[in-house]
Amino acid sequence: MASQSRIHQLHFLLIPLMSQSHLIPFTEMAKLFANHGVRVTIVLTPLNAARFNTILEQAKASNLNIEFVSLRFPGQEAGFTEGCENMDALPSLNLTLQFLAASSMLQKPLEKWLEELESLPNCIISDICLPWTTEIGLNFKIPRLVFYTTCCFCLVCNHNISCSKIREQVRMNPKKNMNQLETAKLSAEGLVVNTYEELEARYVEEYQKGGQKLWCIGPLSLCNKAISDNSEIGNKTSIDECNCLSWLDSMKPNSVIYVCFGSLSEMLASQLVELALALESSDCPFIWVIKREKYSEELENWLVEENFEEKIKGRGFIIRGWAPQVQILSHIATGGFLTHCGWNSTLEGISAGVPMITWPMFAEQFYNEKLLVEVFRIGVSVGVKTSADYGEEKDRVLVRSEDVKKAIEQLMDKGEEAEERRKRARKLGEIAKKSVEEGGSSYMNVKKLIQHISENKSIIREYSWTDSSESDCSAEIS
Ligand code: UDP
Repeated sequence: MASQSRIHQLHFLLIPLMSQSHLIPFTEMAKLFANHGVRVTIVLTPLNAARFNTILEQAKASNLNIEFVSLRFPGQEAGFTEGCENMDALPSLNLTLQFLAASSMLQKPLEKWLEELESLPNCIISDICLPWTTEIGLNFKIPRLVFYTTCCFCLVCNHNISCSKIREQVRMNPKKNMNQLETAKLSAEGLVVNTYEELEARYVEEYQKGGQKLWCIGPLSLCNKAISDNSEIGNKTSIDECNCLSWLDSMKPNSVIYVCFGSLSEMLASQLVELALALESSDCPFIWVIKREKYSEELENWLVEENFEEKIKGRGFIIRGWAPQVQILSHIATGGFLTHCGWNSTLEGISAGVPMITWPMFAEQFYNEKLLVEVFRIGVSVGVKTSADYGEEKDRVLVRSEDVKKAIEQLMDKGEEAEERRKRARKLGEIAKKSVEEGGSSYMNVKKLIQHISENKSIIREYSWTDSSESDCSAEIS
């Protein structure tokens, strides 16, 4: 790899949103491009750089050309306390827009950093959530690609919703921010997506009818096996990690259900109690990741009062904090994944070839549920019907323990239907692994993307914010 000196000279600047589910695929993408001979710089802030420093160490040890540029996060200017540099540190997800506003203040320091460089990067790959990077691309005449943090199915759904003007028929808050994201996306040279073509062939094709370039380069969690063991992705794992993996070693193949709701979701203690009761009453061995958040204390009190851990001893394993998710999912003992359907978790489950129980909470998680349950038929829904707005998902008990128990039984069942589901999941996992191997579809797409930038075919598209409402629906996607 990386034998051509021309490719050696390429320099990509990666600009992620400071949130775990964005930083994780971005750092994996950095390793991937560096492994293909590209010099990569990732924009981070001091606390996030500290959280991801193992990546830098691994990269150095593997002779990968990855650097961090660490910019002070202007959180205090936007009203946040010191140390709030990542979305998982927000007191409430209701403050997301404020956090995005703070993120946009990184533009000036980043421009200053660029001005001082001897030569500019050949390409910017910026997060879909950071529309202000459009101006950086234009000001410095650097081709900009957008990293779209969910799947092509979501891309197509959003495009169709936008073209149908259905939003105008329902009462909604003004969505200036959505328009800016749409404009930033449409004005980009192309999109980079953490998915693989075989998984989403239909939606890749549909989206490309609109004429925008699209490179599927994932699953990123599978891309860098040779240079990392995935154990410290995104955070220091809680000390239970080794115990948890050796506990899994002691369990039968495909017998354990892994329960985790990503890095942001918050639930009421009473909702978590419903989940605990279901885990206790089902016969299934489980790993349950309990995120440390403001309802933890109430839940912990309940666990103690009910003597919960004594009751599930030998059959259940609780991780408090951050779990080595990718490792757990790929362990032979893991037979199911109860997920909130964030795209990273969804794709990690697919890549590991495990069937899933779907418990979406907000945003595109409901699309991902549809993909798992109705399109791929590798998921069983717990039956949540309504989306809570950002930050409000904690305010309602939406799922009862009997529904969770039913879904676990259905998923882990030994009957024909569950067996077929398992087979389909396994197959998708096998194809995922092939796609990132040398010659596979994602591997080749990385090569094509690098080639595209190295041939300097880029067109810097001028686009004004006001164009967003006129987004191109001429090639309407069906
Ligand atoms: N993750 C992890 N350990 C945890 C919780 C989450 O490694 O205890 C990782 C998970 O593997 C995934 C990311 O954090 O890569 C969560 O992203 P996702 O898009 O699924 O959900 P979000 O955090 O945006 O809700």
